[in-house]
Amino acid sequence: MTVITGAASGMGRECVETLRGLADAIVVVDLEAPAIDGTIGLACDIADPAAVAALVDEVRRLGPLRALVHAAGISPSMADARRVFEVDLVGTHYLLEGFEVLVQPGAAAVCFSSSAAYQIAPFVDPDQDALIDDPGAAEFLDRIASVITDSGHAYALAKRGVIRAVGRAAVRWGPLGGRVNSVAPGLIDTPMGRMELDVQPMMGQMLERTPLGRLGDPKEVAAAVHYLVSDEASFISGIDLLVDGGMMQGLGDLS
Ligand code: NAD
Repeated sequence: MTVITGAASGMGRECVETLRGLADAIVVVDLEAPAIDGTIGLACDIADPAAVAALVDEVRRLGPLRALVHAAGISPSMADARRVFEVDLVGTHYLLEGFEVLVQPGAAAVCFSSSAAYQIAPFVDPDQDALIDDPGAAEFLDRIASVITDSGHAYALAKRGVIRAVGRAAVRWGPLGGRVNSVAPGLIDTPMGRMELDVQPMMGQMLERTPLGRLGDPKEVAAAVHYLVSDEASFISGIDLLVDGGMMQGLGDLS
């Protein structure tokens, strides 16, 4: 069984096509159940713990887990800081914890972080990391939303939190025979990517400084996801793979 969240749009939708054939069936998940030929569509708000628990139960009933691709997410222009943390970081935490009971040898997960996580890295202090490392705490959203109120800042920190949550999950899933990684897209030509380009002038500058000089195609990110879930990547776990056309090098934020 391959499970893909955010499957109705953008990179999640592209992963559905790229990962056909990886397992005997594909479960496609989004806020409304996607209707995609040859797949099983399920509705789930990944930021709702009860909905994620029901999703895990349903997948358990359908068959053994081969891959979890978690592409569902929202960008800074779509919501306030609190909701960005709730969907992008707490939702990822629910999925990585919830699917752990289904991990069996050969299972692999890929989450979606963002190049934004690298842009913020030089400005994060240990107290903030301690905060984002505990997304399961009951008071997490109240605490973080009282400190971080800008949704762009929230997005970058939430995606840094995703990378760190993936690292912790890799430690837990490994002894069960499972692997967990993430991809960090740069500027990608999806409905989300286009919208952020339209509303954030800084994005145009980032595109100009992308060495390959263009937006990424969702297929190029799906190819990276395909590699990471495939048996070809059988000794790769706990990493975050930048897929950004060299943008972070162009910006000079990576040394
Ligand atoms: P998209 O907006 O095209 O698709 C995202 C999908 O996630 C949508 O179908 C949406 O309905 C679904 N979704 C949103 N909230 C949900 C929720 N609570 N529960 C279930 N489904 C939900 O976005 P995309 O560009 O394909 O982005 C995919 C991932 O890549 C996201 O995590 C995003 O943050 C990340 N990302 C995108 C870019 C980019 O340039 N497009 C860059 C870096 C990172």
